[in-house]
Amino acid sequence: MLKDTDIKKVIRQHAEIENFFTGGFAVKGQGSAAESAEDVQVAEEKAVELEKLACEIRQCCKCGLGSTRTNAVPGQGNPNARIVFIGEAPGADEDAQGLPFVGRAGKLLDKIIAAMGLKRSEVLIANILKCRPPDNRDPKPDEIISCLPHLRRQLEIIDPEIIVALGAHAAKTLLDTNKPIGQLRGKIHQYCPDPDSPPIKLIATYHPAYLLRSYSPENRRKVWEDMKVVLAELNLPIPEYGKK
Ligand code: URA
Repeated sequence: MLKDTDIKKVIRQHAEIENFFTGGFAVKGQGSAAESAEDVQVAEEKAVELEKLACEIRQCCKCGLGSTRTNAVPGQGNPNARIVFIGEAPGADEDAQGLPFVGRAGKLLDKIIAAMGLKRSEVLIANILKCRPPDNRDPKPDEIISCLPHLRRQLEIIDPEIIVALGAHAAKTLLDTNKPIGQLRGKIHQYCPDPDSPPIKLIATYHPAYLLRSYSPENRRKVWEDMKVVLAELNLPIPEYGKK
């Protein structure tokens, strides 16, 4: 039989998960973006580099997707971000606007970021593929091989403290593994760009589009648990739910 304290814990956990996805909590700036004069200068230099790269990405025709896209989607966010979220590939809304995660999955990602006590403008959001695969089919291996140098360069410029890989494609590609997302999520991995560069911490979690399709309390709890690991790694406070 459950004890009183256990019941309270379950209720609290449930409330946490609900608030996580409805945004019923106080969103506090966590200072994840740079603020000192020196940091602002570094951010400006990174922004210039990222924009140069974005121009290259917009011209890129290294794979067949270059001829089917409306817009390439290089990425969006804070060049000095401590956290980079990486999805799979642009969908129809992203292709139309040239911006990542602006459709339904993007709205859920916005809630996840807000639930972490962060603003979308404090993080950086990008994808493995910069162009939309027709009919939202899965990325093909040759497309990933052609496109990956763009993301690698973005990560080199941003140099985040942690990467959040959203979904199986991002996680498997960045970790160079075939393990299922269910096995990869929930723990800290290392993204190793090359033997000469320091590794970057990476946590894998379910893709927001998967979450929308399988919107169970269990899956939502798992994503929230993963995001709490991210906050703990960055020494950021875990927002208190239910407080305005
Ligand atoms: N899904 C993704 O993986 N990326 C986007 O930008 C949008 C939806």
